[in-house]
Amino acid sequence: AGHAITDADIAAGRRAYELDRAHVFHSWQAQGPFTPMTVLKAEGSLVWDGEGRRLIDLSCQLVNTNIGHQHPKVVAAIQEQAGKLCTIAPQHVNDARSEAARLIAGLVPGDLNHVFFTNGGADAVEHAIRMARLHTGRKKVFSAYRSYHGGTHLAVNVTGDPRRFANDDGDSGVVHFLPAYTYRSYFGATTQDEESERALRHLTDMIELEGAGNVAAVVLESIPGTAGIYLPPDGYMEGVRELTRRHGIMLIADEVMAGFGRTGKWFAVDHWDVIPDLLAFAKGVNSGYVPLGGVALSDAVFETFRDRPYPGGLTYSGHPLACAAAVATINAMRDESMVENAERLGREVIGPALRAMAGRHPSVGEVRGTGCFWAVELVRNRETREPLAAYGGSSPEMNQVVAALKSGGVLPFANFNRIHVVPALNIDDALLREGLAVLDSALDVADGFVEA
Ligand code: PMP
Repeated sequence: AGHAITDADIAAGRRAYELDRAHVFHSWQAQGPFTPMTVLKAEGSLVWDGEGRRLIDLSCQLVNTNIGHQHPKVVAAIQEQAGKLCTIAPQHVNDARSEAARLIAGLVPGDLNHVFFTNGGADAVEHAIRMARLHTGRKKVFSAYRSYHGGTHLAVNVTGDPRRFANDDGDSGVVHFLPAYTYRSYFGATTQDEESERALRHLTDMIELEGAGNVAAVVLESIPGTAGIYLPPDGYMEGVRELTRRHGIMLIADEVMAGFGRTGKWFAVDHWDVIPDLLAFAKGVNSGYVPLGGVALSDAVFETFRDRPYPGGLTYSGHPLACAAAVATINAMRDESMVENAERLGREVIGPALRAMAGRHPSVGEVRGTGCFWAVELVRNRETREPLAAYGGSSPEMNQVVAALKSGGVLPFANFNRIHVVPALNIDDALLREGLAVLDSALDVADGFVEA
């Protein structure tokens, strides 16, 4: 009953839509043909669209609402902080910020004991690179193709997918290398072990050819997210860590999407014995209820700035509302065992369901993932692996699959030829199974495009 959407809500939504189309300039879109969905209300893993239809949120928006929408403890913490102190300049001490930093430093691995707060993921990546450059006194930065690191200038330059092309000034000191992506191996590998070994050899060669002594950092999504949730093969991340350490290169783990429980561990690097020098986070740190990101940096990097000023800052670094939301989010995740639940959902519910779909649907090229972080890669032909939409593009066929998901009552995360299954870590099992059944039916639509 608390969910009832009234005619007045729908009328207000229509008015919002008109104003949006008149005045709001949207990210990543050709503004003219764009027909965004109106959201009237959201709660837990449910969202109500402009017509008052209920949708199961398997997208977590942009994979950030890790604890679902409107978690009462986090909403209350934001309200309480708003009543006390909404904002304070970054140079003043604030209890919400101090506690958020303490909690985060306790969760990240190793001696990443210091936290610099930003407003989101892109600026976290940019500051991590700036710290690495100042710490090493070197300029070049290595990052992988098929990656995403953010939409601001340097972050989009390190990004390794087509979202970079229109923005890349070619003067950023960034060198791209080929990732370890076994399903579409660039190295002709047919097994995970081969892929790991060959991708490591490629990165080793590239670093040596560029002059290891010129390289400040390797920036890597611990598990690439929007680029396809392709898990690094065994040994790869350990190999990158060993390689970077050997050359005095900073390893920057971009955990903006994979961090804070998404993969069934607090951080994706926890899946291996890998401790980066800097770790960028955002999104899940407070489920996105108030914009927040940051960099956790090691004691060694911190030492560079003990007696020398750090040349960078943000008006809203460590914003009290955002930090109060982070404290409440992290505490709720712990109290409600959400990271353990994400691991269980991946192992018991999502993984088995997607593998069964892969068995039934010839349009499924590969399913892969861990925790609440899964991708279904759709193809026209399983032998040739020709994708259902080109890399970097869309296709009418993919649009039909997405439309089938929406009309079936699921809000999906779709990218190029992939449907991502990225629910909240605390989604109700029955709701998740309902959403997966809708995906199963939508894949019938995709099967219709498979070449005979
Ligand atoms: N890094 C990764 C891995 C991301 O997924 C994203 C956002 N999708 C970013 C960085 C950029 O974060 P933001 O949009 O908050 O700037």
